Amino acid sequence: MRTTEFIEKKTRELEGLCRSQGIALTVQRRSVLEALAARTDHPTADQVYDAVKGVVKGVSRTTVYRVLEALVQLGVVVKVSSPRARARFDANVVRHHHLVCLGCDAVADCHDERLSGLDLPRIDQDGFAMKDYSLTITGYCAACSGNKDPSITHKGGKDEEMALHDLRLHTRGGAPS
Ligand SMILES: [Zn+2]
Ligand SMILES: [Zn+2]
Repeated sequence: MRTTEFIEKKTRELEGLCRSQGIALTVQRRSVLEALAARTDHPTADQVYDAVKGVVKGVSRTTVYRVLEALVQLGVVVKVSSPRARARFDANVVRHHHLVCLGCDAVADCHDERLSGLDLPRIDQDGFAMKDYSLTITGYCAACSGNKDPSITHKGGKDEEMALHDLRLHTRGGAPS
């Protein structure tokens, strides 16, 4: 769970964006953002719907999907790339990275300054203007790799919380689509 401070900050951000772009701050938009901002587990759209349907009477799954996409467009939410088919959503739009478990599909944040400050080569392929990037590190979480208590079981030297399997770099473009 995140702090109420974070949730309030996100709500103010949404209020400001709605005002400056002349769009209505609907109950649905506010509730979807609040539900997402409260958690750190990078839920799928369906999981956000499950959280919101008890709060907003009569809200449909389609509405929640649409609202999530609108929040991504506004820049107040990011979609997390997952090797699995379903997109995950994150209210934290500050550059950070993700550890994705290939066993249970859990997505955890990774805030490592070394990863966030990479000196990337200039990517000027086809005029692509890079704006931001994030890394997706796939592997197996402690529970899935059998490392239920990493402080006791150190076999194979797997004392990292996530056993590294693959590393992908995702870049986001600067020009609106
Ligand atoms: Zn796992
Ligand atoms: Zn995240």
